[in-house]
Parts: sequence; C-alpha cells; structure tokens
Amino acid sequence: MSTVFIRQADYTYPAIRSIVFEMLSSDEGPVIDIGTRVLIKPNFLSPAAPEKAITTHPLIIKAVAEFALEKGAQVQISDSPATGSFSTLLKKGGYTETLSDLDVTLKPFEATTAVDVGDPFGTIDVAKDAMDADVVINLAKLKTHTQMMLTLGVKNLFGCIVVLKKPEWHMRAGVDRHMFGHLIVSIYEAIKPAYTIVDGILAMQGQGPGKSGTPRELGLLIGGANAHAVDHATCLLVGLDLERLETHLNAREMGVYDGTVHINGALNILDDFQFPELGTLTMGPDILGRFMRRFVIQQPRVDNEACKLCGECWKYCPVQAITYTDRGITFNTDTCIRCYCCLEICPHAAIRASKPLAGRVIEWLRNVH
Ligand code: SF4
Ligand code: SF4
Repeated sequence: MSTVFIRQADYTYPAIRSIVFEMLSSDEGPVIDIGTRVLIKPNFLSPAAPEKAITTHPLIIKAVAEFALEKGAQVQISDSPATGSFSTLLKKGGYTETLSDLDVTLKPFEATTAVDVGDPFGTIDVAKDAMDADVVINLAKLKTHTQMMLTLGVKNLFGCIVVLKKPEWHMRAGVDRHMFGHLIVSIYEAIKPAYTIVDGILAMQGQGPGKSGTPRELGLLIGGANAHAVDHATCLLVGLDLERLETHLNAREMGVYDGTVHINGALNILDDFQFPELGTLTMGPDILGRFMRRFVIQQPRVDNEACKLCGECWKYCPVQAITYTDRGITFNTDTCIRCYCCLEICPHAAIRASKPLAGRVIEWLRNVH
C-alpha cells in the first residue's frame, strides 16, 4: 500500500521547502545520489502568472530542485507547453526569477524516443529526456479538466508527448474518454516517475484546465511515490467519486493500481468543489448522431468579444474543426471530437464548453422526472 502525504501550506518558501523535503526524504522517496540525472516534470501548460493556477508554482519546483542538488544530482526541468514559447512561459510563470540561483537546466522537451506502451497503442513517441533520466519527479497541478474531469499526477505525464504529437493522440484516443484515460495511464507507466507532488495550494475549479477555469485556494500539497495513490487521495479531498476519474478506472482495470492508499495527514473532504460538466463524446456517424452532435451534446463555444483571433486554437485542433474569418471563429460540430484542447490552450479564455438549448432542455426534463 502506498503512502500519500497530505499537508497544509501556503506559498511561503520555508513552509513549502520543509514539506517537500519531508516527502522526498520519506521511506518511499526517490533514491538520488551524486550524479543522478533528475528530471523535474512540472505542469507548464501555457504562459501564465502563478495566480492563474494553470501551472505548477515555481516555489515547489525550487524546493524539489534544491533537494536533488543537495544530493549532488544533475537537475533538468522540462515540459512541452501546449502553447506559447518556453522562454515566455518561464518569465511569466516566475520561474526565471525563482530558479535563477540554482544550477539547473531549463528546457522544453524536443527530441523523442519510440516507446512500446503496450496494447492497443503500441509504439508511441515520448520525450527522450523523460525516458533517459534516472529519476523523474512529477509536479502536477490540481485542476479541473473539461475532457477528463481532473488533471492530477497521472495526467501530468501526458506532457511528455511532445507538442506536435499531442493533437494526433487526442484525435486517435480523444473521441473515447475511457480510451484516452487508458493512453494516459500507459504513458505514466512507461515513464514511471519516482515521486509525484500535486500542487493544490491554489487549485483550479470549474472549466479548467486553462484560462476558463477559476482559481480556488485549497492550501494543499499532496505527495507520494505512486501517482495513482496520490490522485486517489486528491479525489477524496475534493469529493470526487473515483468512478468518475478515467485514469483511476483504467489503472484498476489494467492491474497497475490496487486501489489502496495509506494517508498520512488530515483528510478534510470538501463538499463544494466545482467540477466541469462532462458531455457525451461519442455519438456515431448516423443521422441521429449528427443531430445530437449539433443540437444536444456539450460543445465548445466562443465568445467572439473575447477572442483575439490569435490562431492558437485552429492551429492546435486535432481535426481542423475550427475555421475563422475576420469576424471570429466557428466550430464544425460534426467534425469536432470534443477533446477541448481549444478551451485548454486559448490564451484569452474565449472558449467555454456548454450544451446547446435542446441539450439543456433534455437535461432539465431528466432532472424533474
Ligand atoms: S478562441 Fe482563443 S485561441 Fe482561438 S483564436 Fe480566439 S483567442 Fe485565439
Ligand atoms: S474544436 Fe476544440 S474541442 Fe473540437 S476537436 Fe477541435 S480542439 Fe477539440
């Protein structure tokens, strides 16, 4: 049974450092010696200030890097942001400033290596730096996710799919949420980080994981050697039924997690955390399916007042379902696979997921009967 630490914290460095050192020095902490190549994998979704709750807070990365450097390790900090340049992300997120005194390498994932993650996906290209590291430390952010409900420790490893490959995998697995969960767990198992810490000090609720989500102060740091157990404990904390987390369901089905967790710390369960509404993704190609896609099931919608026509969404959409004119963007609801990558990466919070009127009426009728 894996131990998961739950600790209360705010973003003051001595407190964070002491908690991170306690977690990493525990019995299940990573083995780091002189010369060990340590890769720190934060959540660097997109350039954003820490108060937006989109990215892992720089002080947590600093504490982990200091722990590894004190052991004599070589430390690299990398991710593959979905949008924006890596240097802008470092500056805007406060990483350049916070990490400036540390002897660490900061760079985006670029080169990939082919990794067999097993059926049904076979060989996929994963960030070479993540596969080559002796120890991977996974620093996730506690955020809601319009496609997968929450993005936590296991999901954070999807960032090891280098940026241009992400839409391709969304297209291949994204029409089926359960299948996408399977893919994410397969990637996690291939990389197998030695330790995972979830930054839930300032978490995100609502329409996450990008700028459409709402930051919420929870004051939590959750850490353990097994990210399945860390995610399990985090679901308990925010009051999410585990049956609703596809990565958890897949991990159980695949036999890589036995569903038991030993909690060290206070398990204060929230009863008002706001989760995103998840719509049905698959409807089939028939006439009924098309009707449902257009008029009933949840779909991305744009606020053309907020849209700056920056182009990020239509460049990223895995199925080219977004077109644009100088008046704004439109979605092809027949083609759209509801992966919500556009919502995730829009730098201006101009995209939301919502049900069309007919879908809302059907839901209302369902609720009153
Ligand atoms: S919706 Fe967002 S990402 Fe798409 S063009 Fe507009 S501002 Fe850019
Ligand atoms: S329009 Fe948005 S939700 Fe639909 S497939 Fe493209 S990126 Fe995904």
